[in-house]
Amino acid sequence: MREDAMDDESTVRASRLAEQALMAMQARGIPPTPENFAIWYLHQSGGNPALGRAIAAIDKSEAGFTPARSAELCRTYTAGTDHSRQIQQVSDRVSGLVDEVTSKLGLATSQTRDYSERLSSLGSGISSVIDPGELVGLVRELENQTELMRQRAGKLEVELERNSREINDLKGDLANARRAATTDPLTGLGNRKLFDDVFAEEALEATATGAPLSLLVTDIDHFKLFNDRHGHQIGDAVLKLVADKLKRSVKGRDTVARFGGEEFVVLLPQTDEVAAAKLADQLRGEIAKSRLVVRNRGQDLGKVTISIGVAELQPGETPDTCFRRADQALYSAKHAGRNKVMAASIVAAEVPEVAAA
Ligand code: GH3
Ligand code: MG
Ligand code: MG
Repeated sequence: MREDAMDDESTVRASRLAEQALMAMQARGIPPTPENFAIWYLHQSGGNPALGRAIAAIDKSEAGFTPARSAELCRTYTAGTDHSRQIQQVSDRVSGLVDEVTSKLGLATSQTRDYSERLSSLGSGISSVIDPGELVGLVRELENQTELMRQRAGKLEVELERNSREINDLKGDLANARRAATTDPLTGLGNRKLFDDVFAEEALEATATGAPLSLLVTDIDHFKLFNDRHGHQIGDAVLKLVADKLKRSVKGRDTVARFGGEEFVVLLPQTDEVAAAKLADQLRGEIAKSRLVVRNRGQDLGKVTISIGVAELQPGETPDTCFRRADQALYSAKHAGRNKVMAASIVAAEVPEVAAA
């Protein structure tokens, strides 16, 4: 009765959210495709504040909700849900398998116990047997019990082998789902989740060892204009090119990730701000000097440039604060004309300190 009432309640709520989602889409001229609907339903349910902010920013922008922007929202805000569902499915299968194997082993243990009890009762029978006929009977019984146990063990072995193959498949699926959950599908780089995890780990390590750790926050300049001029597909290809260039320009333990949209982050362990800014300027210079062409069309796209903010993790500082300083430095680089590198310590030194005299 109570469950029915709850079902009714959640159906009413779901219908209301669905209606609101459709109305919000209609008001913005967004086609009600399943992908768009999923995003707007999620938004109406209030389950994702970052999505809310992204929608508010697009609402304020001049172009509003273009198909490209809607597609970008879908990519950014539904990918994670898919992966968590995938991981959830694997984990459900794992727990089902664990139950299955446990009950099989439980059964085998109780059967082995029966067998040994049967054997010991046969054994105590033998000591008092004097009649050879009776002895033949006991040996036959022993033979039967042993054969039964052998068959059961054989069956168990086959079943456990099948379970073990299934467990191996699951391990593979789980590894794939984990990888997918931390990989950006367009560029193949790590995504924001991976970056957050690695930054947290590297910050702990840097704090423990006292080694420097620096961060670059990189953003493509006027990329909206570039997309508007050349189309989203070519924009995507350029994102891949920039990602490749960044990836190839760093070494070993450095991490390059796509933070979102046209923003990339680079984590540089054992690198101080001066060395990080130098590397950042090399990256900036290399990207700025490459001419982009669409080979099969012989079309010259000109150049893209990037701006970079650099910050070194300070003693006692959280990764979040360090990120904010690098982002602030990036903002200054944009403000200074773009195609520039700005270090957080320089930006901070330039900020006038106002105090009451
Ligand atoms: P700024 O120099 O100030 O960074 O200007 P901007 O135009 O690069 O910045 P803005 O934040 O206004 O726009 C970012 C643009 O990046 C919007 C969108 O067209 C583009 N973009 C974001 N993600 C993708 C993507 O996955 N593919 C493509 N092709 N474009 C994207
Ligand atoms: Mg940006
Ligand atoms: Mg940009």
